[in-house]
Amino acid sequence: MSENASSHTFQAEVQQLLDIVIHSLYTDKEIFVRELVSNASDALEKLRHTQLTEKEVFDNDAPLEIQITTDEENHTITIADTGIGMTRDELVENLGTIAHSGSKKFMQALSESGQKESNLIGQFGVGFYSAFMVADEVTVYTHSWKADGEHLAWTSDGKTGYQIESAPDQARGCKIVIKLNADFQEFSQKDRIQNILENYSNFVPFPILLNGEHINKVEALWRKAKSDITDEQYTEFYKFIGKAWDEPRYRMHFSADAPLEINALLFVPQQNTELFGFGQMEPGVALYCKNVLIDDKPEGLLPDWLRFLRGVIDSADLPLNISRESMQDSALVRKLNRVVTKRFLKFLDGEAKSDAEKYADFYKTFSRFLKEGIATDHESKDSIAKLLRFESSMTDTGKMTSLDDYLTRAKDDQGSIYYLAGTSRSAIEAGPYLEAFQARGLEVLFLTEPIDDYVVRSLQSYSEKTLVSADRADLELGDSATVEEGEPLAEDRAITLCEFIQTEIGEERVEKVETGKRLVGSPVVALNPDEMMSAQMRQMMQAMNPDEPVPAPKVRLEINPRHDLIKKLDAARESNPDLAKLVVAQLFDNALLAAGLLDDKKSLISRGFDMMDRALAPS
Ligand code: ADP
Repeated sequence: MSENASSHTFQAEVQQLLDIVIHSLYTDKEIFVRELVSNASDALEKLRHTQLTEKEVFDNDAPLEIQITTDEENHTITIADTGIGMTRDELVENLGTIAHSGSKKFMQALSESGQKESNLIGQFGVGFYSAFMVADEVTVYTHSWKADGEHLAWTSDGKTGYQIESAPDQARGCKIVIKLNADFQEFSQKDRIQNILENYSNFVPFPILLNGEHINKVEALWRKAKSDITDEQYTEFYKFIGKAWDEPRYRMHFSADAPLEINALLFVPQQNTELFGFGQMEPGVALYCKNVLIDDKPEGLLPDWLRFLRGVIDSADLPLNISRESMQDSALVRKLNRVVTKRFLKFLDGEAKSDAEKYADFYKTFSRFLKEGIATDHESKDSIAKLLRFESSMTDTGKMTSLDDYLTRAKDDQGSIYYLAGTSRSAIEAGPYLEAFQARGLEVLFLTEPIDDYVVRSLQSYSEKTLVSADRADLELGDSATVEEGEPLAEDRAITLCEFIQTEIGEERVEKVETGKRLVGSPVVALNPDEMMSAQMRQMMQAMNPDEPVPAPKVRLEINPRHDLIKKLDAARESNPDLAKLVVAQLFDNALLAAGLLDDKKSLISRGFDMMDRALAPS
């Protein structure tokens, strides 16, 4: 070993990843070319920025390009770039541990899903390590952009570990030499590599030279006319810019001259990786000015809730020397943000109308972002609300309605949009609140995601109709259109029964007991007089702070004077007061349970047994 040489073992996760990569049956071995070219392109992009901010850069005059050389005789392929390169520490950190995006996601997905490794490699790519799918040995020669960096070589067979040693006279950047395994010598043929590059690397924004010949034309697809672009080109561009492996769901390509000169090309991916628990996505729409990249992950270019988008926004009006720091404060960037967000929302609305089924699938995967937008983006919340979809008492199970469609079915004098929050459609349907609305032909939206309650509160109203929870105590619903069955309890008896119940349960737990018009098939319902503290809100608070009990709710109780059970209860009040008291306690707990407000379920159960015991007692 030469001077300053050192041997290292891979971090355990890298070892595991390499085992998988080397032994995987994944057939698309050629993807290693795309991965290494993409790394080279990233390194060049980083250098371009470094040159803007640093005074001293090693080899400052070297042209920014990627040189690929095939050698059939020696069975090697070499991929060299003049990017930022790596120092000794960076070699250890970047190529010896899994601290970076692509491979980390892969390992995470592997431990979480039961899928075959080879399928997953296809979905994520494993970055630099993919070289070991075809290599007996990989050597990375490098010199960092830092003037005081070392000339180094990193070598590994992908099995035992790696060595780092001095290697004099390196140019700035990385030169990766792959000694091909006997089975994969095809990758030392120029034609084979040219073919791969034409498939994957057309949009690399730096010249690629293959055996000295310039082979890619650097194309700014987003500035071309739509009619000159094929679907395949769009998809290929999406895969390049989004570092993606899937097909995009939607694409929006638009150009405008006023109020700003904008060329934007945006894609919605197939998958929402936040649903897999990968943490927040990074913003993925790059900012360009006349084909020159300004920032590939600009914060603040689009609202945070649109972080799932991939693509490019190019504006000729931006000053070329705008720095990343000043970007967020720029009035121009804010204007771009507004214009593009508005266009995208309009685009989605159009897509939802033209292909509802496709939109429903998008919605299933991405609705969280829209809902986040309503809660956080005051300016856009009304346009986002147009895109919301919910099941309702008038949709079939699994089918959703928009708020606009809800309004087409609303009664002429209906001032509100009604909703009920619950854990599922069936839980809401089984509850006591819906029947009063159904009896009056009023539609109720079903909010089944925990965040929904918060979303409708942020929204407050839509199209000048207030959004109102159907369990609110102060709702005046008017007379029911359907015929009410059965004789009600006489009014004076009903009043006495209400007082009896009120006394039994106590004022601290029930604010008021009264007979109501809401109920059709249920004997009793608990209404929540505290508009700010819905059942969902209480559950959320309890989950956030499990040690601190949320104060017991105080409800309003409505009883159904036509219901048989209520009439029998009234009779028992005189003939068997003990049993009547037991039934009152149980009715109350049942009502709380249905309302999602019952904290202590133990007494509900033990009282249930007690009542069964009495019911079965020989008379
Ligand atoms: P990813 O590209 O997803 O971060 P990789 O495994 O492909 O993961 O690469 C790991 C890291 O190694 C990169 O994040 C980068 O810091 C460094 N790296 C890889 N290739 C190069 C290169 N050609 N020039 C400079 N740094 C590189």
